[in-house]
Amino acid sequence: MENAKSRRWMLCHHCHKLNEANDDEHQRCCRCRAPIHMRQPHSLEYTWALTIAAIIAFIPANVLPIMTISYFGSGSPNTVLSGIATLIKLEMYPVALIVFIASFMVPLGKIAGLIILMLSVQRPLNIDPKQRILLYRLVDFLGKWSMLDVFVVAIMAAVVQLGFISEIIAGPGATAFAIMVILTMFAAHTFDPRLIWDKEQQ
Ligand SMILES: [Zn+2]
Repeated sequence: MENAKSRRWMLCHHCHKLNEANDDEHQRCCRCRAPIHMRQPHSLEYTWALTIAAIIAFIPANVLPIMTISYFGSGSPNTVLSGIATLIKLEMYPVALIVFIASFMVPLGKIAGLIILMLSVQRPLNIDPKQRILLYRLVDFLGKWSMLDVFVVAIMAAVVQLGFISEIIAGPGATAFAIMVILTMFAAHTFDPRLIWDKEQQ
């Protein structure tokens, strides 16, 4: 099957002009002068490194207390999961569900999706490229929703002001959590989705 690579066309990611490859390793876009590549150099290495770093950050993000919820003066530091348990105990089910999805399901799903994508490019995993591009779009889409956590903090602040909970203090787990979210966003960004289709050409 013919594609842009076999016809020696390279897309500029900055101005989207198609350039003809001239075998220069440091070729630049003929229109905007940005560096262009047939495939992002070391895309998989960067994505693996960032994903592994995100997995490492996922541990303190879930083991260290992320917040202290005070309820009528009493409260102890909570991790993500024990915080969700506290919210359920306070019968705040919708907030508990949003925190569970935003803080646990979304980051885990992103990391799992990235690993499946990278393995499917590197190894003969029998996944249809159409399913793989759907997975890539999902990971990319989840990236935009990683900021859902900011939304959760806003909801929690509103809950505090409504008086259901008297005080919420962020813990060191929150820092680890933010680092993990940023790492997964960069990991999805460094993955070159064109790699998904390359294996089909061989
Ligand atoms: Zn350009």
